[in-house]
Amino acid sequence: MPVLAIHGGAGGDGEWRGLTSLDPERVQCMHHVLESIGNALASGTIDALEAVTQAVELMEDEPLFNAGIGSVLDEDGTVTMDASIMNGSDGAAGSVVNVRQIRHPIRAANCILKQGWPVMLNSEAADEFAIQKGVEKVEPTWLITELRKKQWSRWKEQNARPGATDEDDSVLDHDMDGMGTVGAVALDKNGNVAAATSTGGMTGKPKGRIGDTPIIGAGTWADPNIAVSCTGVGEAFIRTCAAHRLATKYETGLSLDEACRDVLDAVEPIGGRGGVIAVTKDGDVATPFQTMLMYRGVWNDGEITIGIGPNDVDLDSMDS
Ligand code: ASP
Repeated sequence: MPVLAIHGGAGGDGEWRGLTSLDPERVQCMHHVLESIGNALASGTIDALEAVTQAVELMEDEPLFNAGIGSVLDEDGTVTMDASIMNGSDGAAGSVVNVRQIRHPIRAANCILKQGWPVMLNSEAADEFAIQKGVEKVEPTWLITELRKKQWSRWKEQNARPGATDEDDSVLDHDMDGMGTVGAVALDKNGNVAAATSTGGMTGKPKGRIGDTPIIGAGTWADPNIAVSCTGVGEAFIRTCAAHRLATKYETGLSLDEACRDVLDAVEPIGGRGGVIAVTKDGDVATPFQTMLMYRGVWNDGEITIGIGPNDVDLDSMDS
């Protein structure tokens, strides 16, 4: 039976403080993604690769997530975005780094995957490739929202390190912080899995900085057994090859939950708190995190569950 899991980023320290005024919008977006893409997967009209692409595209279009429109701002106040995608059955992959002129970085990564070679393209060349393939072109300023400008100004005033305001809830509450990288993993009717991840990175990131999100094996991984998408402080996920490490641990005998725990334990001592989502070819799914919260949701056999803090959100009380 097909399965779809998504995340909208992990972050925050300390005790869960409950939903914020902006969370219903995020929950509504996740619910729409899970329902529409889950049903399409179940009917067989799309495969796992297309499911994760479309799921991430929908989340890139939600300004409250840190991907596509609403991405966090770099040191110089501009948006640069990273994304990657991988297909389980054949290990095909695509990735874009530091793109700034397209609405859907994940579709650009998908186009690279489909073309077959190379695997990664960066900056202007990646934008040009994507636009030539039909990915919607946008003005770089179209990607910038008022909320992110405000967050960037606060970051600048604080003279904080890059990403500091992404997790420091004493500076910003979680309505405004930079978490919100998006990702999806899916299992389709044919037993194939795929993974996709997309981000604007971290507030105040220096020019040219590349996180884990576009790096195959760090932020994204899929093989015949498992698909993984990560979120958190990217440098630690790169240094531990986090997504690939999880797959290897799973292949060599750890349970899915143990393999996820192993990765979160590996990133923590090097400053890499975050979360992962993973789905196996047998339909097992996991969405663990070690931060205060992780926006996450699962569609499994028509059942939708969504969580932000430690517990699932009561969807009936949210009218979503
Ligand atoms: N992993 C992303 C990065 O380091 C950020 C995040 O997931 O919050 O660019």
